[in-house]
Amino acid sequence: MQKDRSIPFTAIPFFGIHLACLLVFLPSIREATTTTTIVLAIACFLIRKFGITGGYHRYFSHRTYKTSRFFQFVLAFLGGAAAQKGALWWAAHHRHHHKHSDQDEDVHSPARDGIWWSHVGWVLSPMYNRTRYEMIKDMTKFPELVFLNNWHLVPIFVLGGICYLIDGWAGVVWGTFVSTVFLYHTTFAINSFCHMLGRRRFPTTDDSKNSLILALLTLGEGWHNNHHYYQNSVNQGFYWWQIDITYYVLRVLSWTGVVWELRMPPERVLALGRNPARLSEMMEQLKTSAAHATDRTREAALAAAHAASETATAAAHVATETAAKVASAVMPNPEPTP
Ligand SMILES: [Zn+2]
Ligand SMILES: [Zn+2]
Repeated sequence: MQKDRSIPFTAIPFFGIHLACLLVFLPSIREATTTTTIVLAIACFLIRKFGITGGYHRYFSHRTYKTSRFFQFVLAFLGGAAAQKGALWWAAHHRHHHKHSDQDEDVHSPARDGIWWSHVGWVLSPMYNRTRYEMIKDMTKFPELVFLNNWHLVPIFVLGGICYLIDGWAGVVWGTFVSTVFLYHTTFAINSFCHMLGRRRFPTTDDSKNSLILALLTLGEGWHNNHHYYQNSVNQGFYWWQIDITYYVLRVLSWTGVVWELRMPPERVLALGRNPARLSEMMEQLKTSAAHATDRTREAALAAAHAASETATAAAHVATETAAKVASAVMPNPEPTP
């Protein structure tokens, strides 16, 4: 589908919140900034990041564990406070991404549409404002989730109010503006950089990569190649050394009974990931089949172009004949000049 790359007026709040971060240099804010302010900003980042990773991604998008209706709402609210639209909007688009990863239909593929588009362009585009409810039917039966999805700005205003009550305007600037911008770009980096930079352990048909740095910045989401290979697992770091803080939090929550039935990757997937010889063999097979597919696509395109040109020639021939017949019917031979 052709993508509309213009930046609409509705993107003003997004750029506005970036500009608002400069308020940290305002003398009155600088004077009011204390250790409490910085702790508040870090807490606002971490709690909302978990709302995105543990909630929007691992629960609403992939259903990798179970929880109560109440905690499900809490997750939707925490993720909503990150100002990345509603849980249903986010999860539906994410499911679509997995279905078409790095193909033409993919909403945010850096290989197809470039880094700017995959990082942020698609989020701002009015083309994707609509929630793809057809992709998230399992969650639309909860009216409170649909309500929050429609009123997705409520949580960020609530957060702004809490920050103000705790630490005044310095709390709002650091806890709401600055930490939200960090949330944006660390989350968006999974869609952009994690399909460009890093290592590929598993042979997937997309460009997904694993990145320790992004895993640290996103509470474990940087093991994106693992995740694209096996999406149904609550942990995205598959091995002990793949740090995955979201998973550790969910594991602790499972001990308290807040969440349960955490789905783990099967042993065959873990064993494959530890078998470099088999992995490189599979990677080669994937490249060969991709090259064949490209050849077949090229041949199909040539055949289609050839067929189209033949059809056009035949149509032109028919049109010429018809025009000649019409002309001779409308304009009979002129009388010979006496
Ligand atoms: Zn996913
Ligand atoms: Zn991806």
